[in-house]
Amino acid sequence: MPNNTSYNTAMTQKRVLIVPGHGGKDKGCISPCGRIVEADYVLEVGKRLADLVGKMEPPSLILGISRMTGDKPHKLSDRVKIAKDFNAHLVVCIHVDSSPAKSAKGQRVYHWPGNSRTERLARRISRCSPMDLDDGGSWVSASERGYPRVSNVLGAYSCDAILVELAFASHAGDVDKMLRGDAIDLLALGILPAILEYPSYG
Ligand SMILES: [Zn+2]
Repeated sequence: MPNNTSYNTAMTQKRVLIVPGHGGKDKGCISPCGRIVEADYVLEVGKRLADLVGKMEPPSLILGISRMTGDKPHKLSDRVKIAKDFNAHLVVCIHVDSSPAKSAKGQRVYHWPGNSRTERLARRISRCSPMDLDDGGSWVSASERGYPRVSNVLGAYSCDAILVELAFASHAGDVDKMLRGDAIDLLALGILPAILEYPSYG
């Protein structure tokens, strides 16, 4: 006789792809003095997040990561293809921000306008934002405030997609926080609950 529990679990299983930004020659943003290299930093956070989810073995999630090394070059079109081949329900893009405005700091989580699941994810991640990186109201619709670069990324995927800008490489305080010994763990732990909850969002 079929086990109803496992049948239901299989029915609600979601495939989540972690996409650390950049890679190969594309290093992303680099902090003053080169202490943070975005492509390398987001890879470490992405791998830690994958580790944490893997250890928990949640039955309702199948998790993938778009790259495990720093030398694999990915254009946006490559990342979109990886997500498609993975049959992702959700893509979690991880980046580090940079701004000419020296005061810009903190974590931002972008969701797709009108998509309630991604808005919920963004709010959830913002609430878990670690290391005082959340400067308030940090979940942002990709269409707000004119972020064409973010809209281009999120709009390229044909599934749910969010983009987490962990902190600002251009802000000295954020860089110090990102270089703390526990920062990679804390940043991954900040994203983890939202991913675990995602299958329940329907
Ligand atoms: Zn980036």
